[in-house]
Amino acid sequence: LDSMVQTIASEDACTADGVPLSLSINTGLAADFEVVRGIKADGIGLYRTEIPFMVRSCFPSEQEQFLLYERALDAYPNKPISMRTLDVGGDKPLPYFPITEDNPFLGWRGIRMTLDHPEILLVQVRAMLRANIGRGNLQILLPMITSVAEVEESLRLIEQAHYELCEEMEMQIERPKIGVMLEVPATIYQIGLLSKMVDFFSVGSNDLTQYLLAVDRNNPRVANLYDYYHPGVLEALHYIIHRCHKHSIPVSICGEMAGEPIGLLLLLAMGYRHFSMNAQNLLKAKWILKHLSITQAESLLAQISDMSSPQQVRNSAIKMLDELG
Ligand code: PEP
Ligand code: MG
Repeated sequence: LDSMVQTIASEDACTADGVPLSLSINTGLAADFEVVRGIKADGIGLYRTEIPFMVRSCFPSEQEQFLLYERALDAYPNKPISMRTLDVGGDKPLPYFPITEDNPFLGWRGIRMTLDHPEILLVQVRAMLRANIGRGNLQILLPMITSVAEVEESLRLIEQAHYELCEEMEMQIERPKIGVMLEVPATIYQIGLLSKMVDFFSVGSNDLTQYLLAVDRNNPRVANLYDYYHPGVLEALHYIIHRCHKHSIPVSICGEMAGEPIGLLLLLAMGYRHFSMNAQNLLKAKWILKHLSITQAESLLAQISDMSSPQQVRNSAIKMLDELG
């Protein structure tokens, strides 16, 4: 690494005009911790717990989960680690828990499945809470939330797991912060209500794009229609940050676009300051942000505001990125 890159790797993330940013990683595999070794980051914005579940041949026990979660919490001591409860179904099958549906992405996935199987959720939350003892950096993130009732039920189960553990261990255990993924379009119109129930939001732009555009994110036949830079998706992302500011609730974004140069540029201009991305994108993202001022990003956002196609948006953004070098 040349010395400029080395400096960026070792410093906190900020823009060219010195605005502090939070950059964290998306992971589910311990191998990622090697990829980001030596690159300063602000924790794990999305720990996909389904990944360790998917590589096994049966549900991991509470103790197995406890050991995995301890390791994840230790990857960034004192930095927040957002562990998402099991998000299977849709494109993420468990070989030992088959779900057959005509429309899996509109079906029994994420929180919908685990609320129907509270025994799965309770074991998982117990393992997370136990791993957090003596660490204190756990945050719990709820996937595929669509309604207030689902959040209430999830909070009730988390509270139950917490109460039972405190009783069994005869000690007070810390309550983690709890967040909701904004990835089902209906949630973005319930930000006011939801912000009173939880501590933070994380925008899942991968699913949000799929559901806003009605395009299966994995169907090659319509892959050309799946685009985060569709003006309708950008407008939704703009609306989300505006509503979150209004309700003073922290929001981060953990979909793939948060690790892409064009996505970072546009999200920064909209007002996003917390980005979570694949480990492989972390250093590049820090570099780009360090070379970009808020004013430059805002001028691009203004330029694209009346554009009608994703391709126009991309072209303008690429032009600006080229000018940055
Ligand atoms: C998302 O939907 O944007 C997200 C980050 O979650 P996943 O890709 O795991 O569905
Ligand atoms: Mg998702």
